[in-house]
Amino acid sequence: MKNRLDILNIWVDPVNREQAVRLVEKFLAQEARPHSIFASNPEKNFTVPKDLDLYKTFKEADLLLPDGIGMVLAARILHKAGLTRVPGSEFIFDLCRLAEIKGYKIFLYGAKEEVSRAAADKLQKQYPDLVIAGRENGYLKEPEMPDLIGRINESGAEILFIALGSPMQEKWYAVHKNELTHVRVCQAIGGTLDTIAGNVKRAPELWCKFSLEWLYRLLSEPKRIKRQKVLPVFAIMILVRKLKAMLSLEKK
Ligand code: UDP
Repeated sequence: MKNRLDILNIWVDPVNREQAVRLVEKFLAQEARPHSIFASNPEKNFTVPKDLDLYKTFKEADLLLPDGIGMVLAARILHKAGLTRVPGSEFIFDLCRLAEIKGYKIFLYGAKEEVSRAAADKLQKQYPDLVIAGRENGYLKEPEMPDLIGRINESGAEILFIALGSPMQEKWYAVHKNELTHVRVCQAIGGTLDTIAGNVKRAPELWCKFSLEWLYRLLSEPKRIKRQKVLPVFAIMILVRKLKAMLSLEKK
């Protein structure tokens, strides 16, 4: 995207939910290659630059969603940009609705077998005309990949949801994107199938309203503290970057 915003070591696209859906409609209208949609969030600021291939894949993504309040605030502080959150875990519903209306087929890849099955059932109930052309759990071995890719291609799905968790899902996309002959849009959705299946509870609406999903998730899955402890570091880095920018402006 042209007006992509730098947020420390990564980027985010200044799109709201509606604009993001419109962009995906454009991707779907182009047959050329798969387009990648990744969620941009503070954690990725620390994981993505550690791996050069991952960094390149992330940088070349077709759409980097402002996944949570961390990126929205950072974009406001650093760029005075008025972003709204477009959580990847909610955007999957926009894409399923779009697929249902426009007749695109979806394929779900990732999560445990029972989670994948339950999530597919829930999505089918929610979107009765949606065509789920196939699904596969995320615990296949490397030698099984050619068969999986073959099934994804033969399914005729235009939209592939990759639910392997980050950064495994972005790396999978980087390795296999050129083998996907029919898919036009891939969204990496992390643990979203677990929430759809009901295995992991989504934050109640009130928590979402106050942008506190991260806190709800932390309280309900305390082992996530390891990953979320980067949040205060991220906040400090943003403030330092802002201060530096202000000071260099004063000097000029
Ligand atoms: N997962 C998978 N294959 C693996 C490892 C993980 O399919 O080899 C799935 C796992 O079952 C879960 C998701 O990837 O559904 C990871 O969820 P998490 O919430 O940790 O990911 P995040 O959203 O934080 O990236």
